[in-house]
Order: sequence, then C-alpha cells, then structure tokens
Amino acid sequence: MKGDAQFHKLGLRRGCDFILHLPLRYEDETVLGTPENAVPGEPLQLEARVQRAAIAFRPRRQLVVHAEGLVLRFYNFYGSQLKQFQRAAEQGRRVRAFGELRGGWFGAEMVHPRYRIVEEGEPLPETLTPIYPTTAGLPQRELRERILKALDAEPLDDTLPGELRKRHGLAGFAESVTLLHRPRPGTDLGAAWRRLKFDEVLAQQLSMQFARRDRQSRRAPQLPGDGPLLKAFFEQLPFKLTKSQQRAGGEVLKDLTQPHPMQRLLQGDVGSGKTVVAAIACLAAVDAGWQAAVMAPTEILSAQHYRKFREWLAPLGLQIGWLRGGMRKKEKLDAAQAPIVIGTHALIEKDVEFKRLGLAVIDEQHRFGVEQRLKLGKKRARIHPHQLMMSATPIPRTLEMSAYGDLDLSSITELPPGRRPVKTRTFSEAKRQAVLERVRASIGEGEQAYWVCPVIEESKEGVQTAVETFERLRGELKGLNVGLLHGRLPADEKASVMQSFVAGKTQLLVCTTVIEVGVDVANASLMVIESAERFGLAQLHQLRGRIGRGARESVCILLYGELTETARDRLKVVFGSTDGFAIAEADLRIRGPGEFLGARQSGKLALRYADVFDLALIEQARAAADAMPEQNAKAHVERWYGSKRDLLDA
Ligand code: ADP
Ligand code: MG
Repeated sequence: MKGDAQFHKLGLRRGCDFILHLPLRYEDETVLGTPENAVPGEPLQLEARVQRAAIAFRPRRQLVVHAEGLVLRFYNFYGSQLKQFQRAAEQGRRVRAFGELRGGWFGAEMVHPRYRIVEEGEPLPETLTPIYPTTAGLPQRELRERILKALDAEPLDDTLPGELRKRHGLAGFAESVTLLHRPRPGTDLGAAWRRLKFDEVLAQQLSMQFARRDRQSRRAPQLPGDGPLLKAFFEQLPFKLTKSQQRAGGEVLKDLTQPHPMQRLLQGDVGSGKTVVAAIACLAAVDAGWQAAVMAPTEILSAQHYRKFREWLAPLGLQIGWLRGGMRKKEKLDAAQAPIVIGTHALIEKDVEFKRLGLAVIDEQHRFGVEQRLKLGKKRARIHPHQLMMSATPIPRTLEMSAYGDLDLSSITELPPGRRPVKTRTFSEAKRQAVLERVRASIGEGEQAYWVCPVIEESKEGVQTAVETFERLRGELKGLNVGLLHGRLPADEKASVMQSFVAGKTQLLVCTTVIEVGVDVANASLMVIESAERFGLAQLHQLRGRIGRGARESVCILLYGELTETARDRLKVVFGSTDGFAIAEADLRIRGPGEFLGARQSGKLALRYADVFDLALIEQARAAADAMPEQNAKAHVERWYGSKRDLLDA
C-alpha cells in the first residue's frame, strides 16, 4: 500500500501505535457559523449552495468556487485533483467549508478551506475534529481515518491495576484515549492528557528497568581491583586524586568486582580529571588478565589519550595499543593485542578482534550514536565487557531520571586544585583590533592561544572561515607562529600540527571545533571564539574548558557579530557562569531535549507528550513502575514500544 511507508515514517505500524498518536489540536466542525459572526483570525464552518466554479489565472492559477455569500479559492491543484474539485463544485451542491474567513473582491472568501459535500439537513458531527502531527504526502484526512478506525477496533484494556490508578489519581485508559481523539466541544481534557503522559513516562521507566534486569542476567568478568599494576599506578601518580575522583573511582571499582556488566556514566566538567578514573578502571581489567579498550570520538583526542596513558603507564611496563584510521589490517590486529587499546571508531570496525575484552571505556559518550556504543559492548557474546561512559556535558536532574535512567551515574564535582576559573569577556566584531592586541600581548609573555572559528571552508556571509582567518591572522600578527587545525586535514598533518602546539612551538592555533572535546594543553591560557553566537552553549562551555588548565589565569574572549535575541541570551549564560550544570540546564531549555540528547533521544525512549522538565510526573511514574505487577508491566511496555527493546539492550 502506498500510504504505509508514510505511516511507518511516523512510527505507526500496529493498531496501538495509531491509538497512541495523539492530536496536536482540534477544529470545531460541530457548529455552523455565518459570515456575520466570524471572528477575525479564527476559523469557522459555513454551509452554502454552489452557484458556479471557474478557473482563474490571476494572480496565480486557481479554482474559484462561488457559493451563496461566499467565495472559496484553491491554488496548486493538478489533473485528477482538479476533476475532483470540479465535480464537487457543480452548481447546486451543498458544501461545508471550514477555514478562516476574510474579505475579498466578491465579499467573504476562504482560501483552501477544508471542504465537504453534504446533503441538505445532514447532521453535524458531535465531536471536535482532531488534527494530528503528520508527514509530507500523508493527508490529514487519511491519517485521521486510520486512527479513528484503530480506536474502534483495538482492545483498550487498562494496563494499570485499579489500585495504582487510584493511588496516582489517574483516569482510565480507554476513557482517556477516546476522549483525546473524539472530544465533545467544551470538554476538559486535562485528566485525559495527564493519564497519557503518565503512561508514556511509565513505559520509559519500565523499559529501563527491563534493561537493567537484562544486564543483571548477563555475565561479565569479575575484576577485583587489588592487583599490582593498580597499586603501582597510585604510587607513581604525580598528583593526589580529588575527593570526587576518589569517590567516582571507588564506585567504578566496586562495579567491576560484580559478575554483571557495569554500565556507568561518569560525568564531570571539562578538566575535572575523568581520564585518570578511566585509567584506574583499565588497570583493574589488566590486573585481572583482561583487555581494556578506550574509544574517543576524534583522532586528536585518541592521540592525546594515547600520550597520557603512555606517560602514566609505560613506567609500569605496560604496553598501550593505538588504533588509528588508515592503518593496515595487520597493524590493526597487532595494536588490538595490547592489554590497553586506544582508538576512535576504528576500534569497532569488523576486522578488529579483541582477545579478552573486559572493559570498554567510551569517552565523550554523547558524541557517539547508541549503535556504536552497543557494538563495542557486543564484541564478545558470552562474556560481556563492562562499560564506562564519560561525558563533560552534565546531565540535568530530570534527564538523569528519564533518558539516562538505565545507567548508573558517578559525578566528579570539583576541579583539581590550583585551577583558576576562566574569565569570559565578550567583544563585538568592531573591537577586533583590541582583541588582536590582547593576543599579541599574551603570547609575548610566553602563553599560547586558540582562535576558534565556527566552520571550515564554505564561507557564509559574516562568518570567517578557519582557512581565511588563518591567512588573515598571519598578516595581522606578523612575527608570531600561527598554526591551522581543522577536521579536513589529513590525519598525520593534524597530528603534527597538534604536536607542534603541545610542544609550544605554535603560539596561536587557529582551529575549528575539532578541539572542542578533551584537548589538553596546559600552557594555553587564552582563547578567542569567533562568531560565538553561532555555537551551542554546551559547545562554548566545552571549548572554554580547553583553557584554564595551567596555573595562570585564563581568559576566553567571545567575539560576536550580529546578535539575535536568543543568541544574546545564550552568550549571557556562558558569560555569567562557569558552572557546567547551570549551562547544560540552560542549553536544554533553549535547544530542547531533542538536540541535547542526540542519539539517545532519537531512539524509542523519546518523550512525545510528557515534558522532560516535569520532575513530579517523572517521580510518580517511577514509583508506579516499581509497583507494577510483572504482567501489567510487560503489557504496558508492549503497548508503547512494541516487543523490541534493543536500543536499551547493551
Ligand atoms: P577531563 O575530565 O576533561 O577529561 P582530563 O582527564 O583531561 O579532564 O584532566 C585534565 C588535566 O588535569 C589533565 O592534565 C590531568 O592530568 C590533570 N589532573 C587530573 N586529575 C588531577 C588531580 N587530582 N590533580 C591535579 N591534576 C589533575
Ligand atoms: Mg576528557
């Protein structure tokens, strides 16, 4: 059937999918109005007898239907559609048209009204007309018919036991969905919506419980965390762990002693020192005779991890493998033999086989799709590796309970001692000269600086590209050693540019957001972000986190061009706060959960109806999930998500 692809696009396959596809709004076709009682801006329904219909060509080709006291206009119609219209517009037919009325050449007229032929005296519908979210090529009418048919055909039994319904003051399911799809005018839909939102969050909570339970039924290697490597590591570590690093490390090590796979998310602001916690986990694996893999989202970051791990672990006599893109198969196989293997997506390519993978660390987890994370987890079928995910984008409390409820969380809540908060300044593009002076002065004192641009090549108006900016700055800052780093450079060139910056040879690094995640050069204490208004908040915060790592006071300069209202608000947030949690919360509110969650949200756990900020609702649904009898829980998840829950199985 032609329509089915469109239905699938909306996620509509089974009868219950249709029933759970709820209206966006309603239109009232239960009453007839008159042109005299039309309210400007509000649609109404009129009934009239057709007098004549004609095609007009000015200003555009259109079908004009003249009825008693009313003109209907239709644009953009073709072949068969035209015939249909013409038949409907035969003289003497009675039509009902629903739309907005406006004054025109011939008096009152409607453009593209919803339009129906009726018999004389045909009764009006008793319920409002639901308008559903639809997709290109799927007419509202067709979608509505299918949904209402499903509503009549499907069993609407309540998946919640009466006792739970009562406890949470919930309306019945059948009554609620029926009401939402077919309300009579003037009905209060509050209780019905509350029931459906509750059900939605409940389904999400339940499926995360199922995922946790599945995990409990799988086997993972037990890693006691008391081996000689870990001990030696602590002895030679050049700094003392912060309190929250100790706590997070403790939580991870405890999970690793369990015979079930860990799935823990370690969150901590940029620069809070997550890498050392990852290293601790890796050593627990290696001590117990297992391999650990560390996956990073970019080549630059994986190179940095490689350097850091070598610096820390080579003294212990430990070999580190580094898997890069562009390696030959043989080289990859060799690298994957090492006790600790570091790399990018290259780690999950088909030809990479680990011997005994006991732990997978996934850095900057939000950069990876769910699929990719799962693949790394599934390299071995019988014994499942533990998973440690890391993220510098803190997860607001509401998301922690909803979208991330299947993971255990550890947080690093403090920065290592001796860090000074980064000062943030905003400058308009007009003050560019002053900014250049500032860069020159800082570099004169032996500091290094980043100059971050929003795009690589294609120049949009008002946006400086990295390449152009690089050329321009080389002219403006003659005598300084300026480098250029962006994502389109070949891997080895990227590595050597980065190497030169790490070594202090390059003084100013012009770059794109390739440095956004994780890059760690302590001597860099100045950052200029060009066209700052074009970046996301969390992104700006991430970028800014690249400086402020040394003992010197660091400054981040946000250079902005044209500012819209939203852009100004966003910059104010970053300007006013160095607290990653506050920024993430604001980012979530400004951008909405879809973008914030990326891959996670695009899965079936997305909330369509309930508000992710509705903490009270989420807490209640969670309590209900704990109290649901098994049979009911299964039926409920089945109704909302179908039988597949693979997005959560890891
Ligand atoms: P992130 O959490 O952003 O990944 P990193 O792990 O890269 O942060 O750590 C940032 C820097 O801080 C690194 O150079 C690291 O060696 C250093 N560091 C980590 N923990 C401590 C600590 N407890 N004391 C001093 N420096 C630390
Ligand atoms: Mg990091």
